[in-house]
Formats: sequence, C-alpha cells, structure tokens
Amino acid sequence: MATIIDGKALAKKIRENLKIECDKLKKKNINPKLAVIMVGDNPASKVYVRNKSKACKEIGIEYEEYLLEDTITQQELNELIKKLNDSKEINGILLQSPIPSHLNINQAFKSITYRKDVDGFTPSSVGKLAIGEDTFISCTPHGVMKMIDEYNIDLTGKDVVILGRSNIVGKPLIQCCLQKNATVTVCHSKTKNIKEHTKRADILISAIGQAKFVTADMVKENAVVIDVGINRTEEGKLIGDVDFEQVEKKASYITPVPGGVGPMTIAMLMNNVIKAAKEQNDKNSTF
Ligand code: NAP
Repeated sequence: MATIIDGKALAKKIRENLKIECDKLKKKNINPKLAVIMVGDNPASKVYVRNKSKACKEIGIEYEEYLLEDTITQQELNELIKKLNDSKEINGILLQSPIPSHLNINQAFKSITYRKDVDGFTPSSVGKLAIGEDTFISCTPHGVMKMIDEYNIDLTGKDVVILGRSNIVGKPLIQCCLQKNATVTVCHSKTKNIKEHTKRADILISAIGQAKFVTADMVKENAVVIDVGINRTEEGKLIGDVDFEQVEKKASYITPVPGGVGPMTIAMLMNNVIKAAKEQNDKNSTF
C-alpha cells in the first residue's frame, strides 16, 4: 500500500510558519496585503475566493476584494490593475479566472506587474521560471513540488510524466521538474497511447480534469502518483483524476483528493504574498 501524501497537514504546517513570518513583518510595520479581483458572478470562483480570504485572515494577511460587474471593459479592468500595481499598500494582485469571454485574460495578466504577480501567471514570471531565476511560481505546481520535497522524493534522473499542458499547471510543472533534473514527458488530449507513457513514469502527475482517468494498469509498480485533478461526481463528491482505491495498491506514494494538492495551492498563494511583501520592502532585493 502506498504512503499517502498528506497535503492537508503539510499545508497547515506551511500556513503556521507563514503566520510567524507575517507577525515578524508586522513588527517592522510591514503589513502584507493581497488584492483579489473577481469579474462576474461565477459560483465556483466565489468559493475559491472565500477560501483565499479565510486563509489570509488566519495568517494575518490583509485582504481586499474587487467584485466587478461582468459588463466591465478591458480598459476598465486594466486601469484597476494599474491602480493596484501603483499602490504602495498592495503587495499581491490576483485576478480570479475565469473572466467573461469578451475580456482577454492574457492581456489582463500581462498588465499585472511581475513584482505583485502572486499567481505566477504573467509572461515575466513564466519566463523567469523557464530560465531558472527566482520568481513567483504558479501556486498549484509550486504546491506539488513542495510535497515532493517534503517526502524526500528525489527526481534526479527519474522519468516524470505529466498529464495536461495548461498554462497554470502542466507547463510550469515541466520547468519545475526539469530544474530537479528529471526527464519530463507531457501528455495531452492529442497524445497517442497515453498508457505507454504513463507505464514508464517513476513519478506520474495528472492534471487533466477527468474523473478516474488514471487506472492501475496505467501505473508502474511503486510509482509516485500526484493527483491534481478535481472532479465532482453526480452525488456531489469530489474525486481526482486517479482511481485512488486501485492505484493506491500499486504506487509507493499517492496524493488523495480531497486533502492532497488542493490545500497546498492556497498555502503556496499565501507563501507568495509574504514573499512579495518581503521583496518589496527589501532595498537590496534583486527580485
Ligand atoms: P485545463 O486548462 O482544462 O487543461 C487540461 C489539460 O488536460 C489540457 O492540456 C488537455 O489537453 C488535457 N486533457 C484533457 N483531457 C485529456 C485526456 N482525456 N487525455 C489527455 N489529456 C487530456 O485544466 P487545468 O486548469 O490545468 O486543471 C486540470 C485539473 O486540475 C482540473 O480538474 C482542475 O480542477 C484541477 N486543478 C486543481 C487545482 C488544485 O488546487 N488542486 C488547481 C488547478 C487545477 P489539451 O491541451 O490538448 O486540450
């Protein structure tokens, strides 16, 4: 049976350490602050945003929410971002996706200064990650890497297979795993014979959003299996991309859903806000 990678416990530990960091900053009159922009009325986004504000409160990070009508223009959105870029009080800016389809999300991300890009989505952050410079790493891949580190899983020379190539999960994971000296394969919806790839994986990371897509026959004996996927069953239960009950018997390590990658994502967002506040208040920062 696999060792369960306990994302919930690790995320709690990270948040507790961040609270200590945050208290230290406050003693120096630095008050870390996150601004969250939400456009329109997406129920799932509301839940995500509520969870982020809860985590901020617990750590002591100040939090400001901008709820915009879904009729807002690109120019109005960009102007708000510019105002937040220029604000001395705001350390981190997060634009909650999705946004209405008449708006261009990449253009909006581009207008966030990389120094406040706590989601790690701007071209500057993505480019800095690709050339190995210190930057904000997108929170979910960052959380995955923290879990791998915490459980002392060495990626050197290992075959990592990533399912999914999205800008927010799959692609940043490629860079993160390369930096850890893994040999990386990425599969997506046009990949032929996915099983041939997954069967070779020492570490299999699934981020496609298909319930129970990864079955035991697709997994190598003793592989490490990280499940980023979040899918809802007809009964409303949350499940991952991996058939947990079967794959658990074959893997060496496995993340559960819920309680795996999910809590790590918010913890790493909090980590990025504290980092932003530190860097912005450090005269010697080269960030
Ligand atoms: P996304 O933007 O929809 O990307 C999905 C990726 O999976 C795409 O690259 C797509 O291929 C690929 N894909 C879809 N079906 C496939 C299939 N049958 N075979 C192979 N590849 C397939 O999704 P995302 O935002 O990266 O999220 C992925 C999953 O992770 C979702 O379940 C999401 O809810 C979850 N998620 C969880 C967290 C967390 O905190 N735990 C954070 C973010 C996302 P193409 O590129 O060819 O279309």
